[in-house]
Amino acid sequence: FLLAALTAGAMVVSLAGCSGGAAGGGEGDGALVGVAMPTKSSERWIADGNSVKKQLEAEGFRVDLQYAEDDIPTQVSQIENMITKGAEALIVASIDGTTLTSVLQSAADNDIPVIAYDRLIRDTENVDYYASFDNYKVGVQQADSVLNGLGLVELDGSKKADAPKGPFNIELFGGSPDDNNATFFWDGAMDTLKPYLDDGTLVVKSGQTDFDQAATLRWDGETAQKRMENLLTANYSGGDKVNAVLSPYDGISRGIISALNDAGYSLGDEWPVISGQDAELDSVKAIDRGEQYATIFKDTRSLAAEAVKMTIAVLNDEEPEVNNTEDYDNGTKVVPSMLLDSQIVVKDNVQKTLVDSGYWTEDEIKG
Ligand code: BGC
Repeated sequence: FLLAALTAGAMVVSLAGCSGGAAGGGEGDGALVGVAMPTKSSERWIADGNSVKKQLEAEGFRVDLQYAEDDIPTQVSQIENMITKGAEALIVASIDGTTLTSVLQSAADNDIPVIAYDRLIRDTENVDYYASFDNYKVGVQQADSVLNGLGLVELDGSKKADAPKGPFNIELFGGSPDDNNATFFWDGAMDTLKPYLDDGTLVVKSGQTDFDQAATLRWDGETAQKRMENLLTANYSGGDKVNAVLSPYDGISRGIISALNDAGYSLGDEWPVISGQDAELDSVKAIDRGEQYATIFKDTRSLAAEAVKMTIAVLNDEEPEVNNTEDYDNGTKVVPSMLLDSQIVVKDNVQKTLVDSGYWTEDEIKG
């Protein structure tokens, strides 16, 4: 397998560190892969990092896994270090997708292929492939989960025959503006909510319906909590209640829940429908308690497997399998992408989606 790569000119340099041939320690044969993850402050990235590392090691690679605690210069210097240490390939989940142009030029100068992991890396020629989920569809699912919680649609988005007329008050939250995914989620959600906003079934009392107004820098839960507190004070002090909150990420949902608790909302009829993303354990527990209505499950084990397959293919000078060559223009080129499917999780299907798949155990969720 590596022989093909070794005969492929350009790869001679990048595989020079290998001891040669696939006969030794699996397909990786001891080659180093650098894996750059954004932060440990969110469970999903810990799961991603662990899965990628485990799967690469099972293929015989050595792995340099680094977390940058959402600090851009730290991530840049971690990637520089990986290049210095002789990484043969890089798998990168960026913090700010626009800040890696220069360090990835240095990767290219050293013939090191780059896989963008989950988040698209922008403004550079030097990203080879992209492994992610169908991010627009994630946004559609987030909106569908909110509409489902209000009794307007089934989980697959089809309209319910006996749907209530509303109007329902909704407030909207977006993700981090420097993360390419955030606008995909937002667009998917807003396209889905639009007919209900247009016909008055849904009302945004704050009037904050632009992404720029709703965005949450670095996906930060406390920032979201403060914004929610302000929204409640400014628009819901006169007795009106907020009935739903579109939230793009579980950490943001937890901030929103804190603000609602502080404002005196009680669980039950007056508690709003809240969406989320990532099936983080605390949020799955919140779904079980009825505080959060839904989350979106993106199986990090499958995403890791895609990234590892891509890495092996590029190192072997083969074309990895992709299923989208249109939607992910990074400002310099369209990056060939493999987009995986995600699932809506609500209380009724926690067992089927998360426990049966082995993502969380029942004890973890109930504990
Ligand atoms: C990921 C989401 C995650 C968010 C915050 C996005 O890029 O796709 O799964 O919720 O970052 O970490």
